[in-house]
Amino acid sequence: MFIVFLGPPGVGKGTQSRRLVRHLKIPHVSTGDMLREAISRGEGLTEEEARSMEAGQLVSDQLVVRLVTQRIQDPDCVEGCLFDGFPRTLVQAEALDGILGQRGERLSRVFLLQGTEEELVARMMRRAEIENRADDTAETVRRRMQIYQAQTAPLMDHYRQQGILAEINAMGTQDDVFARVLESLDGNGG
Ligand code: AMP
Repeated sequence: MFIVFLGPPGVGKGTQSRRLVRHLKIPHVSTGDMLREAISRGEGLTEEEARSMEAGQLVSDQLVVRLVTQRIQDPDCVEGCLFDGFPRTLVQAEALDGILGQRGERLSRVFLLQGTEEELVARMMRRAEIENRADDTAETVRRRMQIYQAQTAPLMDHYRQQGILAEINAMGTQDDVFARVLESLDGNGG
């Protein structure tokens, strides 16, 4: 089963998707994690790409599509995986449809986590203090929100048209939100 988690920065995609992969026993494929690991190993990204990531901007479609294409060839992804933070642009979404299509697969479900901008910004500022993430300053938080609205929000229509979009209210406790995710998964034969 191939699943995507979509949603604005700070909505809890990382937390919820990690819970769902434990539940479904499929690999967690986070392009953000893969990029951070590549940077800490000092390979795979040009200096310009690393800088644009620190500034809260998207790295190139080509780079993330290459990373994902390689990753899902690993044996643990034969039965499926959960994509967290990918796709983030229409180009990436179409590339993913193509990669899966070549294997005779398609996405089963796209979970769209939703929350109010006020709460999301507050959550990210808390996370910045706890995790000390280089891309969680007030300015980059605002920029990442704008990029989400401009580049990633249009993916909703792409997946709605495919009939696989599940919209989840992501406000409330982590347990509440996870219960909604599971309910949606069960409710639709997933
Ligand atoms: P995340 O951990 O998913 O919030 O990703 C952190 C940062 O990595 C983003 O702000 C982007 O700079 C970069 N990134 C992660 N995934 C993607 C993607 N699918 N496309 C472009 N850039 C990405």
